[in-house]
Amino acid sequence: MTKEKYALGIDIGGTKICYGIVDASGNIISDVKKTPTPKTVQEIKDTLKNIIDENYDKIDVVGLSSAGAVNLENTRVLSSTPNLPAGYNSIDFSTLSDKKVYVENDANCAVMAEYKNGAAKGFRTVLMITIGTGIGGGVVSEGKLFRGSRGNALEVGSMKIFADKRQKCTCGRYDCWESYASGTGLRNCAIYGAKNYDEFKTSIFKDKSPDDLTTYDITDGVEKNDAFCKRVFNQWIYYMFVGLVSLTDIFNPDCIVISGGMCRFIDVEQMEKDINKETVVTDVKVKIAQTENRAGMIGAGVLALEQI
Ligand SMILES: [Zn+2]
Repeated sequence: MTKEKYALGIDIGGTKICYGIVDASGNIISDVKKTPTPKTVQEIKDTLKNIIDENYDKIDVVGLSSAGAVNLENTRVLSSTPNLPAGYNSIDFSTLSDKKVYVENDANCAVMAEYKNGAAKGFRTVLMITIGTGIGGGVVSEGKLFRGSRGNALEVGSMKIFADKRQKCTCGRYDCWESYASGTGLRNCAIYGAKNYDEFKTSIFKDKSPDDLTTYDITDGVEKNDAFCKRVFNQWIYYMFVGLVSLTDIFNPDCIVISGGMCRFIDVEQMEKDINKETVVTDVKVKIAQTENRAGMIGAGVLALEQI
């Protein structure tokens, strides 16, 4: 019998670095430890080296989860990472240990974590959507991460849902899905609604300037049964639905997992019914993510174990 192998799963976040030892089934078999994310590149390297040294004898490989696009060799983060120090892209993670160090994008880690040991366990093709200020995505197909030619696939937030330049996106282009269906998108829906819906005149927010409306105002107003907020919210849900139907038609997943700060506002059972009514491919299950703040560690650990 071959000895089971273990990975050190490390999640590099903007405010903290979390780590734990992960097995190939996606279980964290140690305590999870946390340390604040240092403010300089050198301190980040030193911190990661110390974390690896502390666990060196117990692990076979190191998996890192990070924001940003990752190179094909899984050694560097290429794109800008606004929450991490300048120069972060210069780190060659493979030099941090003589054991193999594998870095992967956090959305990709998250979908692998949900597939292995979360809401999508037992499904074959899994699409994961993370809804926060933007929208991130990942796909696992038949157990394999779908990475694209350069590892940048599933930039679903940048998928265009209109062709007539209605809404400028924070990326500088027009009509990206995330400018309609993310947290920022809900606010954009509110601003549009305040200028165009009659219900705003009788809303609890009628005295606010449209540009001052927040995402929280709308979710709060829905709870208070405000007709304007409900119409804005339903429009936002419709934009969410439109993107999910397109992605279902493209990937034919048997499970969609939704995560992120905005996911608790979505009625996934209703969303599942609506998608299955509309899609041209076979039915899909829609679920809320389960691995949450463990997703980066689990996904990075599992993916690293596949490399050795
Ligand atoms: Zn955009």
